[in-house]
Amino acid sequence: MSDQWFYENFDLTGSAFGLRVTRKLDEVQSPFQKIEIWETTDWGNLMVIDGATMVTTRDNFFYHEMMAHAVLYTHADPKDVVIIGGGDCGTLREVLRHPGVQNAVQCDIDEQVTRMAEKYFPELCESNNDPRATVMFDDGIAYMKNAAPESIDVIIVDSTDPVGPAEGLFNQAFFETCHRALRPGGLLVQQSESPLALVGLIRDLRGAMRDAGFVDFKTLPFPQPCYPTGWWSCTIASKEARDLDAFREADAAAKPFDTNYYTAGIHKGALATPPMLVRALAE
Ligand code: SAM
Repeated sequence: MSDQWFYENFDLTGSAFGLRVTRKLDEVQSPFQKIEIWETTDWGNLMVIDGATMVTTRDNFFYHEMMAHAVLYTHADPKDVVIIGGGDCGTLREVLRHPGVQNAVQCDIDEQVTRMAEKYFPELCESNNDPRATVMFDDGIAYMKNAAPESIDVIIVDSTDPVGPAEGLFNQAFFETCHRALRPGGLLVQQSESPLALVGLIRDLRGAMRDAGFVDFKTLPFPQPCYPTGWWSCTIASKEARDLDAFREADAAAKPFDTNYYTAGIHKGALATPPMLVRALAE
């Protein structure tokens, strides 16, 4: 049995997440970040970007399913979807499970992330050749700045933490470009980090979305064992006033594809905001 471990230390909460690894499979320093791939003993492959755990074979379904299906079943009829970031292609695969989606563009700044995913997480990339998919490489900030007004139904921001190239995906200026690009009824969802460790970030994120013109917000927590604290969230914002607790529950219950985590019941449960989060977001 290997006695080599990979640890991501999380200074903010004095905690760490570790996986037993057998060997490093690959490493590349792209113009944007350092990407490492490890083989683990029990969690399949592991992708790490600049020291932060991104994806493991074993547990990525929590994140990808919640990032895609919660917002898509909240929108009335999503046809045009844009994913900013998401270079491992797992969110794209989930988006394309929805037969009503006609176009899904994935715009990640770093081609190397997708090349590594194709090699070490091929199952996440299995829909990349779907005729409805466009996989492109550009800065998501520039992509949204140039997007035609009222051309997108759902924007999914599947980014790294708000440092380095992803820093500009968490501010008012970026959200203003998203707001303009959304059609009436449009929704934005952003991965919004740990509700246990970074509730201030979630509050600031919602504030920046509000300042950019978004009206209603809902933060849905979900488990994500490989991320700091093991408890993660996504925040949905609506272009116009609407009840984000209302989703196409009957459609979600009759979804024409299998999932590992997301169901209509899980979606409903994630809408019940825990009191600590209600209090922290009201501060
Ligand atoms: N699930 C992960 C998490 O929450 O830690 C995120 C996974 S995904 C691999 C994050 C992606 O965001 C990376 O591939 C990175 O290249 C991309 N990214 C960071 N900044 C970006 C930007 N400005 N525009 C587009 N993509 C960006």
